[in-house]
Formats: sequence, structure tokens, C-alpha cells
Amino acid sequence: MLQVQEPRTLRRTAGAGSLAISDITAEAAALPAFANHEWVWCGRDEKRGLTAIVAIHNTTLGPALGGTRIWPHESFEAALTDALRLSRGMTYKSAVAGLPLGGGKAVIIADPKTEKSPALLTAYAEMLASLEGQYITAEDVGMRLADADFLRARTPNVVGTTKGGSGNPSPFTAEGVFLGIKAALRHRHGKESLAGVRVAVQGLGSVGWSLCEKLHGEGAALLVSDIDAARVEKASQTFAAVAIKPEEIIAAEADVFAPCALGSVISRQTIPSLKARIVAGSANNQLASHEDAQLLMERGILYAPDYVINAGGLINVAAELSPDGYWREAVLEKIGKIPETLSDIFMRSQAEGRPTNDIAAEIAMERIQEAAKI
Ligand code: NAD
Repeated sequence: MLQVQEPRTLRRTAGAGSLAISDITAEAAALPAFANHEWVWCGRDEKRGLTAIVAIHNTTLGPALGGTRIWPHESFEAALTDALRLSRGMTYKSAVAGLPLGGGKAVIIADPKTEKSPALLTAYAEMLASLEGQYITAEDVGMRLADADFLRARTPNVVGTTKGGSGNPSPFTAEGVFLGIKAALRHRHGKESLAGVRVAVQGLGSVGWSLCEKLHGEGAALLVSDIDAARVEKASQTFAAVAIKPEEIIAAEADVFAPCALGSVISRQTIPSLKARIVAGSANNQLASHEDAQLLMERGILYAPDYVINAGGLINVAAELSPDGYWREAVLEKIGKIPETLSDIFMRSQAEGRPTNDIAAEIAMERIQEAAKI
């Protein structure tokens, strides 16, 4: 187990209670998920209940942008691993989407339902401000639009806000996933019609719900699951969806499995039970390990790499930073390219007999290496 000692205090923000910000890059380097991160910061403020990790993976293409996840991880090491994996995924996501951004991500260890308080968010805003633009954040699991607005009122390094920002990125993420599912159907079955296609959606949060609306609108038959029973009940009524227990959704009798909750749901343990021939959803880090894509391929299951199919929200918030300003039409045009990118990846994967996530990672690395030469 990683032992992160009481962090050395490198920075204290002016007039800010007991917030201490430490460089824990060296400690993080001991973890397998480290993957050459540039910086890893830990912010602690006991009085205000904050323990936050900001991981900055790679800034070759631009400043690091990635959401903040608020989640009660069972240990500091689990939270750090989550932050590192998510942050690396953001580097790849920006690179494949052709955005001038690097990858970063933050995790606040707290239960968003019971421990997220104005004091905690104020301390976190101070941490963001003291990183002086090295990291720009947005929503993720556990962080709502109102929280982003709260942070934005205290520090400029926040996108996807309702005041002066582009608002909720989730419908844009859902749009990319929706188009990506159609691209997968086209590749697999030669037609992209959703009529009667059974889609199992895991997670009915911001993205999952918006995705269900789009799928239902085009005639898909939905099977849904969430740990929040009220959302499942509402989905059953709204979309005539079949409710599935959380532990059974992966093995549901479906054509497409769309993970839209947390990561690591596709693993050596769960792959044998998958009935769907397509895995395409919004969750970050769907695979427990990179090698799981090989197992999916061996079982004839088409996998849409998560950071390719779920880039819509990032494309939307990134537009706020564009020198031309935010243009919704330009955002939708860029999201419209996600299915093309996926189709190219599917075809290369088939032609070369290599997993789709290997091809996607290669595209990302080529773009980063090309930029590093300039
Ligand atoms: P959210 O917090 O709004 O929704 C997540 C939902 O998943 C919640 O309803 C939660 O109850 C449910 N859930 C948690 N564990 C579950 C389980 N074991 N089984 C079934 N349901 C479970 O989050 P979101 O913004 O909709 O994001 C969903 C996923 O998509 C996350 O992995 C996120 O990182 C990823 N993602 C989101 C965006 C975005 O624009 N919001 C962009 C890219 C990627």
C-alpha cells in the first residue's frame, strides 16, 4: 500500500484558513497508474473538510483541462489511482478530438450527498486559484452545475458554468455517445437504425438520462440500471424502460451495453458474462485494464474507446477557451466528427487485428509527439 505521509506544505493560499497544498508527484510515481504525470498536487484543509488531488498528466498540446470528481473513495490510494487514470484519459481525449488542451483531472474525497459543503468548495476554489491556471476544471461525477458556478465565482479556472460559461456539458457528451453507438451499429451490422435495438444503459445520471432520451426518441428498447431506485423508476415510466438490478446490467440480454456510471466495469471477471456485441458508453476508464480490450476483441465484442466516444462534453467546454469565442454550431460540427473517428478506429482495428483502444492510443500519441517536435 502506498503511504502518503503528511504532505510537506509547499504553498499556503493567502488568508485561507488551514489550506495546505503539497507536491505529491514523487509519491504518486510509486503507483502503476502514474504514467509519467507532470505534476500531482494534494490540497488539504481539515477544518473545511477538503482532501483533494489534482493530477496533471501532459500539457504538450495545451493547458490541462479535466473535471473534478467528488466521490467517497475507500482510501487515499484509490482516489489517487482514480485521479491518475482519469487524468491520462483526458490527455488522450483532447489529442484524439484535435483540441489544443492537455490532460488533467481532480478528485475530492468526499460523499457528494453528505459532505459537499460551501466551506469545502471554497477551500477547493482557493486550491484551484493557487495553481495559477495550470489546471482548468469542469463538472464530473458528484460535481453539479451549481458547484461549478460556485467555484467560478471564486476562481477563473472553471469551465462549463451557467454564468459566463457554456453550461452543462452532459447533453453534448450524450450526443457524441449517441452518434458513436450508431457508428458502432453501422460497423457491426451495416445499418445505424436504432429501431428495436436493445440498449442496456448503466447509470441514469446527467449523461445516461440524456442518452436515454435520444435512444428512446429513435425507437431503441431500453434496459436501465442505477443504484438510485428513484431514477430507475422514473426511466421505466418515461422511456418504457425495463429495470435491471445494478449487479445484472452487464449481463443483460442487449445488443449494446452503454456504461454511463463509474469506471472499471469491463474486466476479466465481467467480460465472459457480457451478452451485448457492442460496448459504447460515456463512463471514463470503462476497462479495468488496457488488456481487457484484447479480451473483448477475442469474444467478438466491438469496443468504442471511452475517451473517443465521450469527448462531446470536453469539446463543448473547450470551445469557451477558443480565441473565436463559443459557437454552438462549431461545437456540434466537431461532435459530429466523433462517429467518423470511431469508424476509422473500428476499420483499422479490424484490418490490423488489434484492439480498438490500441489504435486510439496510437492516434493520441502521434498527435502529442508531433506537437512536441514543433
Ligand atoms: P452523474 O453523477 O450525473 O451520474 C452517474 C450515475 O451513475 C448516477 O445516477 C449514479 O447513481 C449512477 N451509478 C453509480 N454507480 C452505479 C452502479 N454501480 N450501477 C448503476 N448506476 C450507478 O455522472 P455523469 O456526469 O452522468 O457521468 C457519467 C459517466 O460519464 C462518468 O464516468 C463520467 O466520468 C463520464 N463522463 C461524463 C461527462 C459529462 O459531460 N458529464 C463527460 C465525459 C465522461
